[in-house]
Amino acid sequence: MTGLVFTDLDGTLLDHHTYRWDAARPALERLARAGVPVVLCSSKTRAEMMGLQERLGLGGPLIVENGGAVVLPDGGPLAGAFPDRLGELPARVFGTPYPRLRDALDGLRHVAGARLRGFGDAGPDEIARWTGLDPAAAAAAAAREFDEPFLWEPEPSPVAVARAEAWLAARGLRLTRGGRFWHLTGDNDKGRAALWLADAVASATGARPRTLALGDGANDLPLLAVADTGVLVARPDGTHLPGAPAGVVLEPGIGPEGWRRAVERWLGEVQGPRCKNSDR
Ligand SMILES: [Mg+2]
Repeated sequence: MTGLVFTDLDGTLLDHHTYRWDAARPALERLARAGVPVVLCSSKTRAEMMGLQERLGLGGPLIVENGGAVVLPDGGPLAGAFPDRLGELPARVFGTPYPRLRDALDGLRHVAGARLRGFGDAGPDEIARWTGLDPAAAAAAAAREFDEPFLWEPEPSPVAVARAEAWLAARGLRLTRGGRFWHLTGDNDKGRAALWLADAVASATGARPRTLALGDGANDLPLLAVADTGVLVARPDGTHLPGAPAGVVLEPGIGPEGWRRAVERWLGEVQGPRCKNSDR
């Protein structure tokens, strides 16, 4: 079976509060035994994601900063499909350079007349306070390339959000929401990057992989929409993000526990009874 799993990190593979993935580990191990690559797909930076990928024991491509780029830290047969370079690594860039996003956040602050505080306005200490990350992880989170996370306080009205979206859209930019922050990006999202990567894998291997995507937040919806199977795991309070596209599976398990259940169910479906037995 050729399969490909795309996953969000915070609140999905990683616990929303503790950033741990113990509950998902059995399913990660089953995917490794089945030879199914796991592609991390997050609003986190390249620096953060390369560290996490290593700690998770994974390899292969990464989708960084809400689909701002697909990068390939460890080279390999797919490298020829990547037309760009990001810090010497093979990459496919979709995003808008960070300095332009910082200028746009200044403009938006003015237009919205609101208190918008971005990662670029804060030092690693403040980012550590916001996120609960340790100082080294907060410094990696501050190394932005294609996505500016920001706090918008007090919580904006739907009208204020729509006005901000229109102002940004006129400049080819987008507003999306992750678990903790608003995100200002270029005209990119996780779904567009995942689709490009699935195509690249299909060209390299001659077979289209069956895709599973897992997420928990609004910025994951474009990703869930393009996968063969899209799964929304439950949030810490047991509810699901409203507004999931038709066909998306609402997994009742929370975060990494829901991740494990959904992946095991999907493996059972795509491997069929024979492979499932031989996997025990
Ligand atoms: Mg999330």
